[in-house]
This record gives sequence, structure tokens and C-alpha cells, in this order.
Amino acid sequence: MSTIATNIAKVGARIREAAQASTREAESVGLLAVSKTQPAEAIREAFDAGLRDFGENYLQEALEKQADLADLPLRWHFIGPIQSNKTKAIAEHFDWVHSVDRLKIAQRLSEQRPDALGPLNICIQVNVSGEASKSGCSPEAVAALAETIATLPRLRLRGLMTIPAPTENPVEQRQAFARLRRLKETLGADLDTLSMGMSQDLEAAIAEGATWVRIGTALFGAREYGRSA
Ligand SMILES: *Cc1c(COP(=O)(O)O)cnc(C)c1O
Repeated sequence: MSTIATNIAKVGARIREAAQASTREAESVGLLAVSKTQPAEAIREAFDAGLRDFGENYLQEALEKQADLADLPLRWHFIGPIQSNKTKAIAEHFDWVHSVDRLKIAQRLSEQRPDALGPLNICIQVNVSGEASKSGCSPEAVAALAETIATLPRLRLRGLMTIPAPTENPVEQRQAFARLRRLKETLGADLDTLSMGMSQDLEAAIAEGATWVRIGTALFGAREYGRSA
């Protein structure tokens, strides 16, 4: 097996074990492969090993890889910060956007989503750790934002996403993910998605109900920065 296929098997085992520990079905946890900074060939290898969902943070880099991989039936997820001049290309080239944190971005994505593609799946990114520098809307602002996004015609609001402050303490990891879970519960039963958990903390996220774990390093190895932005 290739390194990537081996890593996928290892991550799959971690997901199954974590799901079992919480008496959840492993199938209820989606594996979103975060392929930022990784070459198209790495994505092709992950596809050959069974993965279909890929997350990208940088628009230009993603568009280049999408063109290289147009022969594969992949689902693309945008998970990075969104500037308003990027919304049109995101609306045209992705199936999911996990990082919507303000109304203006949601309105533009809805206006610019081509009808033929069907609704764009949306998660609202929430800043559960309260760090001033991090992106994401505040927990207090989520309900109003969700209510308005639910009225936008070409978007389908699926749930919430978070990137908590990094910590190796499993109790603190779970506290942050539990905050996102409870926040989703206050928004009503229509939402089916909690996008939370990365390579370091996927077990804690699954214990608190993650339906997408976003995994980069544990699948593809360490990232080399400086090639893309
Ligand atoms: C890079 C990134 C990930 C993956 O992080 P790893 O620690 O490499 O698994 C997940 N989510 C988002 C939003 C990211 O930017």
C-alpha cells in the first residue's frame, strides 16, 4: 500500500474506534480529506484508496487541482477564510462551504450559485474559543445568521463548523466541541451537520457528535508552506 492508503486505513480505524466508544455508527462520521498544499497526485491516490470528499483553503490552488482532476467524481469543500471577491468562483466550483461567517458572504454565494448545480451546502463557522484573531462568527450571532441564511434560495444550510484553539488536553477539546453541539441543538432539527475535529482531536470531536472530521496531516503528512496562499 502507498503511504496515503496506509494513512487512510489508520484514520479510518481511529474514526471507527471513536464512534464505537460513543455508540455511534462509524458511517455517521464523514472523512473530509484536507488537501491544501498537497499536489493533485496525492488527491488522486486518496481517491484510488476510496476517498471522495476533499477540503481546500486557497481558491486559486483549488481551481488548479480541480482542473487537473476533472476526470474524477470528487466532491469539493471550501474550508478557508472567504474574501467577498472570491465568492463567485467558490459558488461555481464547490459542493460545500464550511467557512461562512457573515451574511454578506452568504448572500453573494446564493446570488452567484448557478441554478444548474443545485443548492450549495453551507456550514456557519463559529468561533467557540472566543479568540479575537480567529475567524468565525460569535456564538451569540449564530441564530440570527442561520435564520437569514435559511431563506436564501440557492443555499442549503446544513450546520455548524469550528476550529477551536489548539490544545492537547482531551477535556478542553471536548468542551469546545460540546459548545458547538449545544449551539446546533438550539437551532432546531433541520440541521444535520457538525464539521469539527482535525488530525489531533478527531476522537474528542466524534465523542461530541462530529459528522465531518476534517483531516489533513494524518492523511497526507506534514504540509510544506510557502507554495500557496
Ligand atoms: C488545515 C485544516 C484542517 C486540517 O488540519 P490537520 O491538523 O492537518 O488535520 C482542518 N480544517 C481546516 C479549516 C483547516 O484549515
